[in-house]
Amino acid sequence: MNHLKKTFGKNEVLKDINEAVYDGQVICLIGPSGAGKSTFLRCLNLLDKPTAGQVFFEGDELTALDDQHLDQLRQQMGMVFQSFNLFPHKSVLDNLKLAPMKVKDMPEEQATQLAQKLLSQVGLAEKAEAFPDNLSGGQQQRVAIARALAMNPKVMLFDEPTSALDPEMVGEVLKVMQDLATDGMTMVVVTHEMGFAKNVADQIWFMADGYIQETNSPQEFFAHPQTQRAQEFLAKIL
Ligand code: ADP
Ligand code: MG
Repeated sequence: MNHLKKTFGKNEVLKDINEAVYDGQVICLIGPSGAGKSTFLRCLNLLDKPTAGQVFFEGDELTALDDQHLDQLRQQMGMVFQSFNLFPHKSVLDNLKLAPMKVKDMPEEQATQLAQKLLSQVGLAEKAEAFPDNLSGGQQQRVAIARALAMNPKVMLFDEPTSALDPEMVGEVLKVMQDLATDGMTMVVVTHEMGFAKNVADQIWFMADGYIQETNSPQEFFAHPQTQRAQEFLAKIL
């Protein structure tokens, strides 16, 4: 992203962001509440339209595309939110099959196979016929991750995927994300899970006051944060 800016009215949320995510990298984006982390993620796939600046995805400038081309590229970016947003009246399997069949015209049999494979990957093979309401929060979030993966994305964007979960369910979701990272998925993860950030991130990006204040390796960031803003933040949470 190049001089990315986003304002809501007079509220300058993103002031000037210039960063790159490389293939296979896991970025953990951390920072205080209201810093603009969600807005930033949403600007990456243009769910929020940047006020100024450019976003590129593998050489294509997303900020210059018409809606149709934008939709095509967006399919390559999976997104997982704090709320799982599964379709409540569809089975887990049907939740997973929907987008590949509708958007990619995948034949049903192939979509079923894909969905079953992804459910195994997130440890929920036996829940294919269950409905979302009958699953725990952690299970629902794992389904939501599998659903995003069903579109075969090149990058996965996570916005506080474990923040709405009961503590005992956080680990199972982080484990799925860690496995994805190990498999080489490119990921941008907004999280307050500092253990995950320390162990899984290739880079920490610390955001506050509308800027990425600091990018650093997890080891360096947690041991020797460079900016005062980051030092204050870590002193509060660690
Ligand atoms: P974070 O995810 O770091 O907590 P957000 O990106 O959600 O921060 O919000 C950053 C700022 O942008 C906040 O002041 C919030 O009120 C504002 N904001 C976010 N989305 C909107 C919106 N759709 N309309 C107006 N203001 C918004
Ligand atoms: Mg947020």
